[in-house]
Amino acid sequence: MLCVVVVALLAGLPAVHPPCGTLALRDRSSSLFSIGFADRPADVDVADSGLHPLRVHRGAAASGEQAALVLAALDAAWALQIDGAGNLEPLPDTANADGFDDDGGDARLDVYLSPLPPGVGALTVSGGSGVTRPTFIVLDPQTPDDVLAVSVHHEFQHALQFAVDANESAMWFESTAVAWEVRAHPETTSWLDLVPAFQEQPMAPVFTDSVHFGVAAVDPTYEYGAALFALYLDDVHGAGDGSLWRRLWLGSAQPAAGDPDDNEPDWLDALGSEPDVDVPALLLDFAGWRALAGSLSVDGDGPALALDARADLAGRAILLEGLRGQERETTIAEGPFVMGCSVHIGTAPLGLDIPVRIEASSVDDHELGISVVVVDRVARVATRTTSSIASAVAIDVDVPRGLTLVASICDLSAADADDDPVFAPVLLRLARRDLPPGEGEGEGEGEGEGEGDDVVVPDCSCQASSGDPMVQRRSIGVLGLLVGGFGFGVRGWRAWKRRRLYRDRKR
Ligand SMILES: [Zn+2]
Repeated sequence: MLCVVVVALLAGLPAVHPPCGTLALRDRSSSLFSIGFADRPADVDVADSGLHPLRVHRGAAASGEQAALVLAALDAAWALQIDGAGNLEPLPDTANADGFDDDGGDARLDVYLSPLPPGVGALTVSGGSGVTRPTFIVLDPQTPDDVLAVSVHHEFQHALQFAVDANESAMWFESTAVAWEVRAHPETTSWLDLVPAFQEQPMAPVFTDSVHFGVAAVDPTYEYGAALFALYLDDVHGAGDGSLWRRLWLGSAQPAAGDPDDNEPDWLDALGSEPDVDVPALLLDFAGWRALAGSLSVDGDGPALALDARADLAGRAILLEGLRGQERETTIAEGPFVMGCSVHIGTAPLGLDIPVRIEASSVDDHELGISVVVVDRVARVATRTTSSIASAVAIDVDVPRGLTLVASICDLSAADADDDPVFAPVLLRLARRDLPPGEGEGEGEGEGEGEGDDVVVPDCSCQASSGDPMVQRRSIGVLGLLVGGFGFGVRGWRAWKRRRLYRDRKR
């Protein structure tokens, strides 16, 4: 059976990094096939690398300069991802291999410079239905040269991924492809357009994607923004050269005798097999690390790259001076979902130091942990502390005047990288330790959401520093609809019985 996979790098609206449609099409069920997405374009000449088995096919609309740029970028990607990080080479597309009706002339990896339909910047097309697949790449010559060079690293990573495990999760495919863009071009910042969907949804499982969490038609970039998590893994637990991503990819490969439709093991299993990695502790550490991106960035902790406000972590805004210590159950909007965190952010008034106690217990007896970060934005320093991991946890934190607290209550229970998101509410109590229990009770009732505990800042749902995230959210509806359509292909292909965005806990 011919089965072709398209990985689409979709050109977004102006100023938006083109997200990639990814694994949306792993069979021919999508209408995109009928408009030629999976066909090899015509060329007017070819250029081969003298260093690696790579061939660039120049279409009539592309210039020789563009072909040379792409060939150089491909050689650079090979040097970084294969020679440097040790990834496996792409599979040869020998004639008629796995359903391809053409091999592009030989077994080299073929990269076509040829116009694509509007809204599509690049594609990686894979052949066959196996767990490992040959590929070819199509890049649109209308793409600006700087974006073209970055896109090569993204699509090249997809070609290598398909040589290892075509069944791996969409999040792992896209997060590591975007992370390679950043490794190859640390100066690039356009990928930050993809980060808000990830940073604005810390309650989501870290392993999920925009099809299974949130509304893909609104912002389909969660799995691309998860490059921030991939970069954390490489920076904090790896050597900073992408070799950890390679190990996790190779560790996620299906055994030859396994179910070809299965994705076991997955990248999360491989992460748990890494020496010196304890996944729950790692996720709790990441909760604090990601809080130090963007406007709360400091020296010596958090992301090493300079990230702007697009990388701000979102959370439920709280008035620290108004904390009354009443226990309440977190809402589905706050989370946490399993392997996600419920984030609460507040700043102490200039004239008041506030000692805070945070207590959380899982309604469903899940494993919880609390990460607290206190940030001095002026001095650019932060202190990070984590609680123990248990079904009921507590932590005390002192927030000096003018400093900002980011408290993340995380569900650290085990999950599979292909699980549906599972909401796991916690009983949460945020209290000032300098006031007797119940002091000031009733004050502030009716403000914000009127939940009778931490006083919510009215009309400021969840932002540490720069306004309503819904305003910040990228307006990429057209793109979202397209990718949303891709999403149905994902679900169909994997026969995932997932018809709801969230699987709420059963009451
Ligand atoms: Zn991609």
